[in-house]
Amino acid sequence: MSIRATLSVAMLFGFCAPALAAETHIQCGQMINVRTLEILENQTIRVNANKIVAVEAGFAPAPAEINIIDLKTSTCMPGLMDMHVHLTSEYSSRSNIERFTLDGPDFAIRAVANADKTLMAGFTTVRDLGDKRFGSVIALRKAIDSGIVPGPRVFAAGKSIATTGGHADPTNGGAQYLDDVPSPEGGVIDGVAEARKAVRQRYKNGADLIKITATGGVLSVAKSGQNPQFQKDELEAIITTAHEYGMKVAAHAHGTEGMKRAAAAGIDSIEHGTFMTDDVMRLMKRKGTWYVPTILAGNWVGEKAKIDGFFPELVRPKAAAIGPQISDTFARAYKAGVKIAFGTDTGVSAHGDNAQEFELMVAAGMPPLEAIRSATLYGAQLVGIEDKAGTLEPGKWADIVAVPGNPVDDISLMTKVNFVMKDGTVYKQ
Ligand SMILES: [Zn+2]
Repeated sequence: MSIRATLSVAMLFGFCAPALAAETHIQCGQMINVRTLEILENQTIRVNANKIVAVEAGFAPAPAEINIIDLKTSTCMPGLMDMHVHLTSEYSSRSNIERFTLDGPDFAIRAVANADKTLMAGFTTVRDLGDKRFGSVIALRKAIDSGIVPGPRVFAAGKSIATTGGHADPTNGGAQYLDDVPSPEGGVIDGVAEARKAVRQRYKNGADLIKITATGGVLSVAKSGQNPQFQKDELEAIITTAHEYGMKVAAHAHGTEGMKRAAAAGIDSIEHGTFMTDDVMRLMKRKGTWYVPTILAGNWVGEKAKIDGFFPELVRPKAAAIGPQISDTFARAYKAGVKIAFGTDTGVSAHGDNAQEFELMVAAGMPPLEAIRSATLYGAQLVGIEDKAGTLEPGKWADIVAVPGNPVDDISLMTKVNFVMKDGTVYKQ
């Protein structure tokens, strides 16, 4: 029985998982230093409770009470971080019906299963950038943090904020009698006062950050995937209010003008960034704005657009035009020196497939170790937890994963994570 199965049985019967020995020594054949981009041979990571206490060269003999984890044929690295997921759902040809047939508890239960798949794929931290109006992901985060269900550390935006008819207006494309007019609480604002109210409402509900849809999007049932959807004063109201409450703001953006406005107003990250011009890249570098590319989602919608009837007719041409562009934008942004944090928009593609993004990043020109840095150290910087996570250093949370072999030689190994420890607990071995 695997350790995870033991934990699951323990949870089922309501007793606590057995405590680990005083200290655990993880013996890594190779270990990635994501600061220096070096691979170190034969390293021992010493873990006590939920923290890394030391990283030492070699495999020193240990006293009998030490718990040894043998990863001598694997490469250890910090727990992976995906800056853009949607845990409550997974897109399918049924998605446009499900929003009328599923309720909050349905989405919450799906989120529990998706969180488990995410953790098993080696992702120990995620930002959830938009759930379905019911607070499901905030409830999930509390359950994970309390040890009730397994899952990554979740930083939740709650329901994304849009303007009327904007990409994240949840009533787009529905018969008008089915929905109330959505409010700031439901994620739709017009004007400065409603913008502030939506941010403060999310703070009150327990969100960790704010997500806005700064331009049209691919999968909403609306005509444009690129038009700017917030005015300058609305963006400034959201970003200023969020920052005052200690929350960062992520902006979905495909079109150039919406991206430019968001970066100029001080947004923390641009998601997708499809039609990012050289001008926008310069602005983002000057403002320190992060880029979260989500190439995986772009490719996925581009492929599905080839299937008759998969998307509603308003969506299909947008998916065909926007999706395949992202890889090229990523390649240009990398060369231009824009700060890039790993993100997939998983929930478009399947949960647990997040690591496929590594293959796409490397294919588009980013060296493997830099791609891994973007999913560890840089993720931690974007979330704001660099002092606690993102590297394998003493004092950091024991969020450690491993792959069987050397990912520099074969980046597809990132999709074959064979060891997952989060907060000092082993979930996969
Ligand atoms: Zn998204």
